[in-house]
Parts: sequence; C-alpha cells; structure tokens
Amino acid sequence: MSDIFDVRGKGIVITGGAGVLCGAMAEDLAAAGAKVSIADFDLPRAQALADKITASGGTACAVRINVLDKAEVEQAYEASLDALGNIDALINGAGGNRKEATTSPELSFFDLPPEALKSVFDLNFVGTLLPCQVFGKHFAAQKQGIILNVSSMNAFRPLTKICGYSAAKAAVSNFTEWLAVHLAHNCSTEIRVNAIAPGFFLTDQNRFLLTDEKTGALTPRGQTIIDHTPMGRFGEAEELCGTVRWLLSDASKFITGIVVPIDGGFNAFSGV
Ligand code: NAD
Repeated sequence: MSDIFDVRGKGIVITGGAGVLCGAMAEDLAAAGAKVSIADFDLPRAQALADKITASGGTACAVRINVLDKAEVEQAYEASLDALGNIDALINGAGGNRKEATTSPELSFFDLPPEALKSVFDLNFVGTLLPCQVFGKHFAAQKQGIILNVSSMNAFRPLTKICGYSAAKAAVSNFTEWLAVHLAHNCSTEIRVNAIAPGFFLTDQNRFLLTDEKTGALTPRGQTIIDHTPMGRFGEAEELCGTVRWLLSDASKFITGIVVPIDGGFNAFSGV
C-alpha cells in the first residue's frame, strides 16, 4: 500500500535546524528517508547534528545561514542543493525570544529597549519572510514546493511579558495565509504554505521563564501554563514530528494557508 505520508527522497532545508525543536524534526524526517539540510547560525552544532544523522544511515548536510541576510539565504539554498540534489521543502524554524525583550519586575513594558524588541521581531518575522522570498522564487521556477513556518501559540493568544515575540509570531501566522494565497494565485497551485503553532515545550529560549534557574522547579508562570493545558504537561519536541510529516507529504496535498496548534489543548481551554 502506498504511504501518503511518504517523505523519502525529499530535499528539506530546515532553518534553525540545530535547535531543540527543529533538530528533532530533522532527525525524524531523515529517519523517514528525507534528505535534510541543517541550516543554522551555529554551524558547529548544525554539523554535529548532520554527522549524527549521517552516522545513523540518514542523508544530511550542514550549512551556515543568517536568516536576516538575503544573500546568505541564497548561498544556503545553493549549498543545500549541491549537497542534496533537490530541494522540495523549507522549514522556517529559526526564531526565539530574548530576556531583554521580556517584561519583568526589573524591566517594565515602558522601558523595553527598542533594539531588543526590533531584534526579536526581525528574527521571527523578517527571518521567515526572507527565506520565503528566496526559496519561494526557486519553488515558483520548479512549479512546486512546500513551505512550513513555525508560528506559536502566542499568535492565537498573546502571552503576558513577551509582546515583541507574540506580535512577531502573529505576523508569521498572518503571512503564512497571505503567502499561501499569493503563491497559488501567481506561481503554482503545487506550492503550499502552512505553519505549526507549538504550545509550550521546555527549551533554552523559555527555560528562564518557566523554571527556576537554580532549583529547576516550575515558576508561577510555568505552573499557570500547566494548569491551563488540559493534557497537564509541556510538550516533547518529538510530538511535533507527526504534524510536520503530514504537512510535508501528500497526506496534506489539498491543504494550504493553515496554522496548526500543537499544544495539548491550551488554545481550546478558556480556563473555566
Ligand atoms: P532553539 O533556540 O533551540 O533553536 C533556534 C535555532 O535558531 C538555534 O539553533 C539558533 O542557532 C538558530 N538561530 C538563531 N538566530 C538565527 C539566525 N539569525 N539565522 C539562523 N539561525 C538562527 O529554539 P526552539 O525552542 O527549538 O524553537 C524553534 C522554533 O520554534 C522557533 O521559531 C521558536 O520561536 C518556535 N517555538 C518554540 C516554542 C517552545 O516552546 N520552545 C513554542 C512555540 C514556538
């Protein structure tokens, strides 16, 4: 029986691929037979992951990318194409928040430095848009391709403290819908653009907000999240992988312009 979730032989470039969540996606896709390019600012970590995947029988390469530099994105595309032979999909995973752009008892909203807010907004939104321009142009030329953006639960429900990050991810969700329509209308109906919106996964970018740096115990914010997550826990990176395979395979071939929450029910729960 043919497998509609088949990703074998697909060339997939993953920005932020050396990170916690996208690293798990890269390993899962490679294990399923895809060829992955780990495209990250942190080349040594990207290379270490590519080596690990290759050692376990998969096909992977590592390329350095700064998603905020269009020329570097183009170079990363070319290097990935050279290494993998074909590029069929882009996952825009590079993103994150910064402590300096987060309100706290020491830092009020009124004093958030514009530079920190701008850098968070740029990394998450502009750092998604520029790769979509570069890869989208190549997908338009080959008349097919898949783009998967990484939004966040806070695009659906803005979270306290992280206004720049929330606004940027809301922009990513909005842009996902916009680009899906634009590419289908103007380039090819075989180019799809979707996004996932992870809920709460304990990673380096949010650990300082959700757990106590010294004891590892939940902060009040971490506890509030658990209380508002019907499944009663944080997600595991591997739990994103089924949805990612779905959105990168023929199993979703009539789906474009959606943002899928992967959140243990957080978005569905009013708190009452
Ligand atoms: P992470 O910090 O582990 O990974 C992010 C990766 O992006 C890192 O490897 C980093 O080197 C890379 N990166 C940073 N700036 C870059 C740049 N300018 N160019 C290229 N690469 C760059 O983060 P994560 O928690 O795995 O998050 C991955 C994605 O998921 C991000 O977009 C994040 O906003 C989103 N997300 C995370 C959560 C969560 O709970 N952790 C929830 C929702 C959405």
